[in-house]
Amino acid sequence: MTRVPDDVVAICERLRAKGKRAWIVGGCVRNVLIDKPVADWDVATDALPQELMKLFPKAIPTGLQHGTVTIVASGHHYELTTLRGESTYTDGRRPDAVHFVDDIAADLARRDFTMNAIAVDPASGALIDPFGGRKDIDAKTVRAVGKAVERFSEDGLRVLRAARFAATLEFELDPETLGAIAPTLDTFRKVSAERVRDEWVKTMKAPQPSRAFEIMRQTGILAITCPELLEGVGMEQNKWHALDVWKHGMACMDACVGDPMLRIAALLHDVGKPRSRAFSDKTQDWTFYDHDKIGAEIAFPIATRLKLSNDERDRVVALVRHHLFHYDAWSDQAVRRWIKRVGPERLQDLYALNEADLRGKGPIFKESDLAALALLKAHVEKVLAEGAALTTRDLAIDGNDLMKVLGLPRGRIIGQVLEALLEVVLADPAQNEREALLARAKEAAAQIQGASGG
Ligand code: ATP
Ligand code: MG
Repeated sequence: MTRVPDDVVAICERLRAKGKRAWIVGGCVRNVLIDKPVADWDVATDALPQELMKLFPKAIPTGLQHGTVTIVASGHHYELTTLRGESTYTDGRRPDAVHFVDDIAADLARRDFTMNAIAVDPASGALIDPFGGRKDIDAKTVRAVGKAVERFSEDGLRVLRAARFAATLEFELDPETLGAIAPTLDTFRKVSAERVRDEWVKTMKAPQPSRAFEIMRQTGILAITCPELLEGVGMEQNKWHALDVWKHGMACMDACVGDPMLRIAALLHDVGKPRSRAFSDKTQDWTFYDHDKIGAEIAFPIATRLKLSNDERDRVVALVRHHLFHYDAWSDQAVRRWIKRVGPERLQDLYALNEADLRGKGPIFKESDLAALALLKAHVEKVLAEGAALTTRDLAIDGNDLMKVLGLPRGRIIGQVLEALLEVVLADPAQNEREALLARAKEAAAQIQGASGG
């Protein structure tokens, strides 16, 4: 069983020595009871924020208006929060005012789920569990504290937390709690994109994020945050697939081994399929031409809407764009061109995504389906080991050389000439030689200038 760290016990004892009370509360208690690792420890106390700052002069006033200070000890962060009571929420996001109370039961009553509304008295080890959180944890149930509709109408983030916990803890939502999501979505609409993104990222750390996304789909949460994904629900594919577009996206995400952004790419990898679907009279089956390209165009605004960083967005979009490849005894040149197109830095991501894409085919997947991927990896290794140029940076000359020999200023033409030379070298690595490239540069520049009429 996870132990309460000595630092936490010491903090609580220090408060008791000053006549204050302290409890360990929230997610850390829940995780101790489930025997899951605890990332941060939260302490609730009847000491007021000013008293906390006096008692722990090194504490960081991380949220004084909410009554929170943070203590850093042995490299860990411990949050101390003054007991708070129920509040009114008019904006569906933040309580209108925070009021401090001296009663742990009142503090627990304002928390979201019964499993998160348990306190431990560290002196006696006794659990304070007024809402039956322990029982719900044993039954693996997410249940709102009090009336679910009311609690979800106060704070729109809670419905997404419910879905997330269903996935990360592998719990089920209590029927009343589940049923309260759809009627309270107007409050959910007010949640900021950043907070939605943070929940998505946490969801992606679950063994099966699809548990959360299925709840989001059923309840209407997803129609608000990512309606594009719903276009694939029930959309039959072709003889190569056993699952519909939506279910395959779920299975691919679950099968994807990687960090949250890679899993978001897995979730979105076929988002272009519904808009590219066409029936082929020749094969008498559905086709999805260009779904990778169309998918990347759809993924970009989704990533932007979710407020991913530019790097994260570029990664997700590039993975959607390049997820589709079928290695079949490619030539060295074809392998070099493929690496250049997808970018050497994306190789590991694409391997993981491709494996998940195959495993995500459901019952028709066989381990032998991974053979082509293994061959591609080996071929890429060989090409990389040969040290062939794969980007313009790998060429034996650079932009400065070109500016000198061509008598041109830095700019578009120089970039285009470098690209043209890279094409030559991709076809024949032996051409990656200073003199040979400089000789070709003049030709290439003349062609480019001729073509652009300049
Ligand atoms: P994790 O840290 O694993 O995401 P957690 O339950 O610890 O889960 P935190 O955001 O760290 O989540 O919040 C700590 C505690 O604060 C929760 O356990 C819960 O008691 C309370 N809490 C957090 N967010 C809300 C909310 N939106 N509404 C009500 N109570 C909340
Ligand atoms: Mg926490």
